[in-house]
Amino acid sequence: MKQRLLFLGPPGAGKGTQAQRLAAERGLLHLSTGDLLRAEVQAGSELGREAEAVMARGELVSDDLVLAIVRSRLEGHQGGWLLDGFPRNPAQAEALDALLSELDQAIELVVLLDLDDTVLIQRLLGRGRTDDNEEVIRHRLSVYHGQTAPLIAHYRSRGQLAAVDGAGSVEEISSRIAAVLDS
Ligand code: ADP
Repeated sequence: MKQRLLFLGPPGAGKGTQAQRLAAERGLLHLSTGDLLRAEVQAGSELGREAEAVMARGELVSDDLVLAIVRSRLEGHQGGWLLDGFPRNPAQAEALDALLSELDQAIELVVLLDLDDTVLIQRLLGRGRTDDNEEVIRHRLSVYHGQTAPLIAHYRSRGQLAAVDGAGSVEEISSRIAAVLDS
């Protein structure tokens, strides 16, 4: 069973929901950099204070900061993991490769959860998080298309990518993901 996974896809595609379900089902460590950053903001830590304004604008938090969060969680962890929302640009992908080779581990599958921008915007507007107003959403999508989407070709060229249609019910999408994981 594949148990070192990345979830890739635009904001609003349902990565968080699916990642949580899958991680619970298969006993994987679920690492959502967005959730971890929001927890830091809530806690009022120095890291959180640094990240808060950047997140509110829909920009990416610095690579060093995010990498430090991921490193601290993966180091010393035995067993499978599911990275959700990381890497988000080519520099983060490179840093992840370096970290994984240091830990003597490798990505087993990258699941791309994809959906049209129009559907994404509707979903995000309905979610009501503080960074979910229309202007910031449009900006997050443009950051996704500019910085994160190039990772699709990167992982596809390595033969690691499985694309899953993100339209439909939570159950339908879960079974599509299960199908690519078990194939
Ligand atoms: P969404 O999928 O809706 O964009 P996330 O929870 O994944 O939501 O991310 C929310 C915000 O957290 C992003 O807009 C960004 O500011 C920050 N963030 C999350 N992950 C990363 C990352 N890997 N690198 C930089 N910033 C990140």
